Amino acid sequence: MERQATARTVVVVEDEEPIAAAVAARLRSEGFAVEVAGDGPAALDLCRRVRPDLVVLDLVLPGLDGLEVCRRLRADPAGGDVPVLMLTARDDETDLLVGLGVGADDYLTKPFSPRELVARIRALLRRADRAPTVAPALVVGGVELDPAARRVRRDGAEVHLTATEFDLLHVLAARPDVVHTREELLRKVWGQTGGYVARTVDSHVRALRRKLGADLIRTVHGVGYAAGRPS
Ligand code: CA
Repeated sequence: MERQATARTVVVVEDEEPIAAAVAARLRSEGFAVEVAGDGPAALDLCRRVRPDLVVLDLVLPGLDGLEVCRRLRADPAGGDVPVLMLTARDDETDLLVGLGVGADDYLTKPFSPRELVARIRALLRRADRAPTVAPALVVGGVELDPAARRVRRDGAEVHLTATEFDLLHVLAARPDVVHTREELLRKVWGQTGGYVARTVDSHVRALRRKLGADLIRTVHGVGYAAGRPS
């Protein structure tokens, strides 16, 4: 069992008290410091106050829904890059949210196992911790990706990507000659495979194409995805 020397703080935003309590108890037993908010405005206040390492955010909330909470978190210059794991009720809802560019880093559909939730949280925290390495910028299809600064430019203009979108593009752009299967991408970008829906990859590819151009990533039918135009 992986333990952090200093407890990482997770804010859980969920109005259904039994779910919030169960999630909080499980996370505390895993060594996390947990704060709970029951609605959107309380969540924003709490995040401003405690500056969490990660936010578990239910989509359906009274006051402000999870979508709006996520947008406002992202707009905060001080804490805009906090990893957000959004809880949804259905897989197609996740598709829709990724398509809207809501900016959550990962999505988990209810009902979920506590083990899966913890695994996802750990994977997101590992990615957030990953020290920037000095690496040359990658150029693919007019898009320039700077791995050290985690910045992406299209025709010279900076484009904002979520952490997950950036990592996915990075994996593809690093080996433009290679076709990656969805399973491989799930492993490399999301850090695991168990319980994951391959459609998560498709949703993020769509988001990247929308932000950076349809040509950026090609679909290799029956296999997976690769960077660049169809040959
Ligand atoms: Ca709810």
